[in-house]
Amino acid sequence: MRTTVASLHAELVRYGLVAWTAGNVSGRVPGEDLFVIKPSGVSYDELTPESMVVCDLDGNLVEGDHAPSSDTAAHAYVYRHMPHVGGVVHTHSTYASAWAARGEPIPCVLTAMADEFGGDIPVGPFALIGDDSIGQGIVATLDGHRSPAVLMRNHGVFTIGKDPKAAVKAAVMCEDVARTVHVARQLGEPLPIKPEHIDRLYDRYQNVYGQRSPR
Ligand SMILES: [Zn+2]
Repeated sequence: MRTTVASLHAELVRYGLVAWTAGNVSGRVPGEDLFVIKPSGVSYDELTPESMVVCDLDGNLVEGDHAPSSDTAAHAYVYRHMPHVGGVVHTHSTYASAWAARGEPIPCVLTAMADEFGGDIPVGPFALIGDDSIGQGIVATLDGHRSPAVLMRNHGVFTIGKDPKAAVKAAVMCEDVARTVHVARQLGEPLPIKPEHIDRLYDRYQNVYGQRSPR
C-alpha cells in the first residue's frame, strides 16, 4: 500500500490537479485498522514508498519518519465512518475548486458525469482544518449519495473509492467535468439530462462497462 499510495501521487501531478504540495492520496491497509497517507510538506518528486506514513483510524502516527499530511484527520474520519471506502484523495484542482468557491454543485449535464457520479457533484459545508469538521462534512454529504466526489465549500475536492486508484480516478474526472461544464456555461445554459437517463447511464457504467474480471 505504501508503494501504491506513493506512486498515485504522480497522477495528481500528471493531470494538473495540484500546486506545490497541496493535495494528497491515502489508502486503507486491507484487513487492518490502518491507512497509508502522504507525509506533510514533502514535494511530489521526493515521495517514495519508504517516506509514506502509516496512521491508525484516529489519525495517530503509527509508522513513519515524517509527520502525516495536515489533512490526515479528515481522511481518518472518512475511514472510520465509511467502512466500504478504501481510498481517499484531496486536491484544490482549479475548476472544481472554483465551483466550491461559489458553493455551487456541478450539475449533471454530461453523460460522463452520469456514468461516474450518478448525478450532480454535491457541495459540502464550510469547515475549518484542525478538528473533525472537514471529515464530518465529507461523510454527511457523501453518505447515501452516488457521487464519489464532494466539493467542500470555499476549499476544494475530496473523493472516495473502493481503493486509492478509484479515488484518484474520481478526482481526475471531477476536475475534467468541472472544466467542461464551466466552459459550457460561458455561452449559455447547459441542458439537463433526465433523471431516468442518468440512472440508466450510471447503472450501465458501474455494472456493465469495462473488462469483466474472470470468474
Ligand atoms: Zn485542502
